Amino acid sequence: MAYEYDDQNIFAKILRREIPNDTVMETDYTLAFRDIIPQAPEHILVIPKGFYVNHDHFAADATDAEVLDFTRVIGAITHAIGATPSTGGSGYRLIANTGNDGVQDVQHLHFHILSGRRLGRMLQPV
Ligand code: 5GP
Repeated sequence: MAYEYDDQNIFAKILRREIPNDTVMETDYTLAFRDIIPQAPEHILVIPKGFYVNHDHFAADATDAEVLDFTRVIGAITHAIGATPSTGGSGYRLIANTGNDGVQDVQHLHFHILSGRRLGRMLQPV
């Protein structure tokens, strides 16, 4: 089934500057901004500027440059906020909620970066 991108989703509006955002980092291919309802001291959303619904869409159709930039931006942010264990940081969590079971609210690919407190176990055992 083809991916259908709804350009009225809230992150599409952020990309068109129709609504404001608190930008953390921006490149030609990627935008990172603070979540409006933070669930940790650092809660940053990273989105590609391309119109991808979710990660499997991105993995299938994004250019190498988009994929590389997206990955590097996430790495640069975790480093910039002091979260990377390799430089003495306490760690972080990356989440990409996807589809119905993943409880994805906004239908534009986004990774959550959460950091700044111990986050607890992600899920309960089944
Ligand atoms: P999802 O549930 O799709 O993985 O996460 C969507 C996230 O987008 C939520 O954490 C929510 O707080 C955030 N969000 C929703 N609307 C806005 C908005 O207008 N601005 C910002 N910065 N974040 C938003």
